[in-house]
Amino acid sequence: MAQYDYLIVGAGLFGAVFAHEARQAGKKVLVIDRRNHIGGNVYTEDWGGIPVHRYGAHIFHTDDEEVWRYVQQFARFNRFTNAPLAKYGNELYHLPFNMNTFYQMWGVVTPAEARAVIDEQKKEITGEPRNLEEQAISLVGRDVYTKLIKGYTEKQWGRECKDLPAFIIRRLPVRFVYDNNYFNDRFQGIPAGGYTLLVQRMLEGAEVLLNTDFEAVRGLGLADTVVYTGPIDAYYGYRFGELAYRSLRFETEDLQGVNDYQGNAVINYTEAKVPYTRLIEHKHFAYDQPEVMNQHHTVISREYPMDWKQGLEPYYPVNDDANHQLFARYQDLADSEKNVIFGGRLGQYRYYDMDDTIRAALNCARDALNNSAFE
Ligand code: UDP
Repeated sequence: MAQYDYLIVGAGLFGAVFAHEARQAGKKVLVIDRRNHIGGNVYTEDWGGIPVHRYGAHIFHTDDEEVWRYVQQFARFNRFTNAPLAKYGNELYHLPFNMNTFYQMWGVVTPAEARAVIDEQKKEITGEPRNLEEQAISLVGRDVYTKLIKGYTEKQWGRECKDLPAFIIRRLPVRFVYDNNYFNDRFQGIPAGGYTLLVQRMLEGAEVLLNTDFEAVRGLGLADTVVYTGPIDAYYGYRFGELAYRSLRFETEDLQGVNDYQGNAVINYTEAKVPYTRLIEHKHFAYDQPEVMNQHHTVISREYPMDWKQGLEPYYPVNDDANHQLFARYQDLADSEKNVIFGGRLGQYRYYDMDDTIRAALNCARDALNNSAFE
């Protein structure tokens, strides 16, 4: 008999949700993480009363009512609505692409006027868009593409828009109304007190070992089932080669005596020549909490995309054919495992948002726990 029912590798959202469900079903759970904190990339850290998103802005949004109800058990969510701005030289635009953006770009006032400009500009694309560039131009025209998409996207992904899949740009809404909400989902908000508290509550009742690499416990037979949320290629010792990821580097500054640096949580820098993509000012995520907003300092982070190599944190799977094919080979191995479940952005090599991750973890935990009930 193993000591634990589940060894969960990674204390991020997938691992924490799985741990919570397993604990609810009375299972013994050990969660390990190689970092010195829980939360994975949603980790927030207190900087003098301001929750700082250490791995970049995380704004929770979902259309999945069950997932929305699920997260409320662990924290109060505020009504934060993401409305980032885009800066191109000295020009400032509203995002996502909506009537405010089109007014700022062309001076058009009505939806019909905006559509007419875009229809004219998109004529250069004939047939189904084959890549991100064609998709972007056919959605919003060449002007918006040039000023607000091309530079940003090429910095973010380290490759040309012509070599990127169209679906990435379809993550963003395009609207012919005056509405700067970055997301279309019905539910949106940020947990008061930060995500770390939320994940801590999810992990209640599970044993958690930090600073612990999977390799250190692998083969010890600690648990009947392993839930692995690290990179799938690392699990298999990169035997078919490395999957590509994009990584990020953050330069974070605590500005003493500054109450409000930029007047918004997120400003995107869409020019190619500015080396970072976004500047986030963390206190604005807690806009409703005077104890955060009244701090006489503010914390800002500049986000610099970079290629991933071993030793860096992987953030985004690179969604091209070569990587999908490579992933499929690892997935074949994973499918034949009896006692290992792969989950999360890295375990499944998918561009999951937080709500997708929670949904996947819930489904996966329910499957696993139902099956084990009949064993
Ligand atoms: N994007 C852009 N300009 C912007 C913001 C986003 O071109 O100002 C594009 C870019 O290609 C990016 C994609 O939209 O990769 C998806 O953006 P999202 O904000 O969803 O990315 P994430 O928050 O996951 O980094």
